[in-house]
Amino acid sequence: MKIIMLGAPGAGKGTQAKKIAEKYGIPHISTGDIFRANIKNGTELGKKAKTFMDQGLLVPDELTCDLVVDRIQQPDAARGYVLDGFPRTIPQAECLKDALDKLGSRIDYAIDVDVPDENIVNRMGGRRACLKCGATYHIVYAAPKQEGICDSCGEALVLRDDDKPETVQKRLNVYHEQTQPLIDYYNGQNVLRTVDGTQDLEDVFKQIVQILGE
Ligand code: ADP
Ligand code: AMP
Repeated sequence: MKIIMLGAPGAGKGTQAKKIAEKYGIPHISTGDIFRANIKNGTELGKKAKTFMDQGLLVPDELTCDLVVDRIQQPDAARGYVLDGFPRTIPQAECLKDALDKLGSRIDYAIDVDVPDENIVNRMGGRRACLKCGATYHIVYAAPKQEGICDSCGEALVLRDDDKPETVQKRLNVYHEQTQPLIDYYNGQNVLRTVDGTQDLEDVFKQIVQILGE
């Protein structure tokens, strides 16, 4: 099963992608997580990506596409995968389609987690991230057992630099300009499914399971 998660930053793509990965036994591939791991490890890619991420801008397509095309050909992705945060532009979607065509493969579902901008600001302001293991929390809706500490690995949780209020509005503008057109793109390919992302996270997941099957 090959799945793409669509939706604004903070809509809950990562939260749902992790649940999908666990239930269906496929890898969760998040370009944001890959970039953050590279930043943490001080790689060249990380240094380049950081300058864009800190400003709420997209990392250029040429730094993003090959990385994903390579990742989806790893052995653990043979049975499928859930892509979270990629593609984010029409050229990225075209690059993915070209690569999949060559591999004789295709995307099965593009799931749009639909959340209006008003809710996003609240979601991102309350998000707390573990930069060690990639777990995500919310101070109200998905609080860790111990405040400020990751349940999975014990690392201190942080407010991501790009979740600060001054950057959130910029990221929403970038989303509407560059990423939202993908909704029509995947609708045109008959793989678009939309879920109401304003509901409680377990209810959002129920909608997704109805689409993907038990
Ligand atoms: P994205 O991957 O789309 O950027 P996340 O999955 O990281 O978004 O979710 C953003 C924030 O909102 C996180 O703090 C997460 O815990 C919280 N969240 C996710 N889904 C819901 C939901 N359905 N209701 C309330 N909060 C949610
Ligand atoms: P995310 O974790 O998905 O919210 O991504 C955080 C940031 O990483 C984004 O605001 C972008 O700067 C960058 N990023 C992640 N995925 C992509 C992508 N597919 N294309 C361009 N930039 C990306």
